[in-house]
Amino acid sequence: MRWSETYIPTLKETPAEAEIASHRLMLRAGLIRKLAAGTYSYLPLGMRSLAKVTAIIREEMEAASVREVLLPALQPAELWKRSGRWETMGPEMIRFKNRHGRDTVLGPTHEEVITDLLVGEVRSYRDLPKNLYQIQTKFRDEPRPRFGVIRSCEFLMKDAYSFDRDAEALEKRYRRMFEAYETIFKRCGLNTIPVEADTGVMGGDDSHEFMVPAGSGEDTIVQCAGCGYAASKDRAAKKLGVEIQEGVACPKCKKGMKLLPAIEVGHIFKLGTKYSAALGAAFLDEAGQSKPIIMGCYGIGVTRLLPAIIETHHDEAGILWPVSVAPYPAVIVPLKISDPAQAGLPEQVERELTEAGVECLLDDREVSAGVKMKDADLIGFPIRILLSDKTLQKNSAEVKFRGEAEATLVPLTELLQQVKKRA
Ligand code: ATP
Ligand code: MG
Repeated sequence: MRWSETYIPTLKETPAEAEIASHRLMLRAGLIRKLAAGTYSYLPLGMRSLAKVTAIIREEMEAASVREVLLPALQPAELWKRSGRWETMGPEMIRFKNRHGRDTVLGPTHEEVITDLLVGEVRSYRDLPKNLYQIQTKFRDEPRPRFGVIRSCEFLMKDAYSFDRDAEALEKRYRRMFEAYETIFKRCGLNTIPVEADTGVMGGDDSHEFMVPAGSGEDTIVQCAGCGYAASKDRAAKKLGVEIQEGVACPKCKKGMKLLPAIEVGHIFKLGTKYSAALGAAFLDEAGQSKPIIMGCYGIGVTRLLPAIIETHHDEAGILWPVSVAPYPAVIVPLKISDPAQAGLPEQVERELTEAGVECLLDDREVSAGVKMKDADLIGFPIRILLSDKTLQKNSAEVKFRGEAEATLVPLTELLQQVKKRA
């Protein structure tokens, strides 16, 4: 892929509105642009990383036997009235009357819609379990949209829902999803701490949030250095019955606990029968008795993953993408190649890498060497391949891994092999 054939509007200046590193870097590296408060466009580089993240999520959901669906964002208010959340959701839920005067909702979440989908079709214990997920835009009129796509009013979520016959089956499913979440976040290069969490407006009995420790995080978690117990601050406050400060006693081992700022990237809940009972999603058990289906729900803030990755992977010069989610693992930077015999070499390298399955971007812009190098660091391609008169005199390319201080001269004959090892 050629730089000139895509759209990467990088910025030299730091946008005034951006308060935290990931927001600044996503704007400066040309990943996103703001349309209005809480709404963002994803540009080609942002889309590529988003596609990497969603591919990882889809692979792990499929591996956990969860199947993909796509549910409507436009939802009739009637469903929300039946679950009781028409009242409890508050002004965060975007509501309007359609042209026929019917109250309508732009889905902030999908428990109601997915539960209704099973009513009358899943009838017997033989039809269970069912595990479904979608990756879809959610709408929430957030009181304070901020930090770019960390808290926006329109964002991509992966939401999965499980339907089981009893608490034991739900427990097994919950554990399986917990494991899938740990794998997903690890593959995205994120270190997460799973914490006990409050169930809030979702309802249900048990819940965990997956938190990425980061100085800019809006949430606070408490973690025990002794036994590893971790909880969200709200949950810990409820459990300890005190207000929570640094050094407060761990409810399990009584050692002092630490307070850490963190970004919530995922949230899983054992919902129980709250939605199935309200919406009539029932099944006949082996004794022929009608019972409400036992549910769980499992969310990941897909678009929030990008800033969470960047918050924990950057330096003063720009982003340091993990290879697994980089928009392109490699960038080819040709600098002043005066020998006409070498003129087509950058294109040839691009072709060979692409054919070998290494996604790369060829910086074919007519701009200074300084601009090309700065943009490569800013965007944070994991591998930079530099071709210049100097390197070509030695039949070599200069290869530098982002985040490592030293560059190495690699003979052109070994370039593909060396790059493939790290891409
Ligand atoms: P928060 O406490 O951050 O508002 P939440 O508890 O409302 O999150 P859930 O309803 O559990 O979030 O949504 C699942 C995931 O969606 C969250 O873990 C988070 O990563 C992401 N998410 C929630 N709200 C937003 C938002 N406004 N913008 C971007 N991502 C969001
Ligand atoms: Mg919220």
